[in-house]
Amino acid sequence: MKQSAPDLDVIVSEIVAEMRARKDRGTVATYIPELANVDPDHFGLAIVDVAGNVFSGGDCTVPFSIQSISKVFTLTLALGRIGDRLWRYVGREPSGNRFNSIVQLEHELGVPRNPFINAGAIAVTDVILSGRQPRETLGEILRFVQFLADDGAVSIDKDVAASEKRTGFRNAALANYMKSFGVIENPVDHTLGVYFHHCAISMTCEQLARAGLFLSCNGVNPLTGLSVVSAERARRINAMMLTCGHYDGSGEFAYRVGLPGKSGVGGGILAIAPGKASIAVWSPGLDQAGNSHLGRIALEELTRRTGWSIFGA
Ligand code: GLN
Repeated sequence: MKQSAPDLDVIVSEIVAEMRARKDRGTVATYIPELANVDPDHFGLAIVDVAGNVFSGGDCTVPFSIQSISKVFTLTLALGRIGDRLWRYVGREPSGNRFNSIVQLEHELGVPRNPFINAGAIAVTDVILSGRQPRETLGEILRFVQFLADDGAVSIDKDVAASEKRTGFRNAALANYMKSFGVIENPVDHTLGVYFHHCAISMTCEQLARAGLFLSCNGVNPLTGLSVVSAERARRINAMMLTCGHYDGSGEFAYRVGLPGKSGVGGGILAIAPGKASIAVWSPGLDQAGNSHLGRIALEELTRRTGWSIFGA
């Protein structure tokens, strides 16, 4: 039931207990071999409200592979770098296809539908890489995420990156295909190297929720008082998270949860309650669309109990 002043401590501990008791946990991603080793019983939840208060529970301090959630941060960086010129390289419409689909690219002349499907995120990574070396670019992405999380301990899991590099044939196909249309500027292996490594950034729910807080606060991180992006840009990134952040499960996520959100195949979801809080949830088992199964259910419970859905209580 909706509450006027939600008791977030109680809500978080109840959701954690409910999710831990559930047997339907989805299936852990195996196409990146290193992710197949993650225990599906993990569950973590962290909420950071706009005043900086943290409400967290379960495995909220265990680092996990953020995977595609990193695409929110690379999109933010790329927009900072070249502004609206970014839309020459990538669109901003939902794809209705799986996150790693190649079919649309042929019809759309190598310009991916949006920055959150793999092809789009690879194109965004290529923009950030232009004029720089891969190592420098990766350092820049990592430092940006550390700055957002206000935590220099955020790191890249090299084993996960190497594991994806060994088996990332589909992403290599997407990148080569885009290169054939001139959408990718840099050597494909450089762009993919940076992409695999930023997907392999490891964070806890608490770090991730802090890193997303600027999107809940009109582009300003209230923990540091520093402006990250303009209010207009924060609003637009949120709009893309709502429409595209869960691939072909984006409509379902909007219907059930009602918040801008971005998922990753590591089982994490970052969700933004504008003006209220930033929320990170982690449960490694995925649904058919490759989004965290219990993560989505936990967020659905959270918006039901808090009335935080952007579509009304
Ligand atoms: N690194 C993963 C990939 O490229 C990210 C996909 C995801 O999290 N949905 O396949």
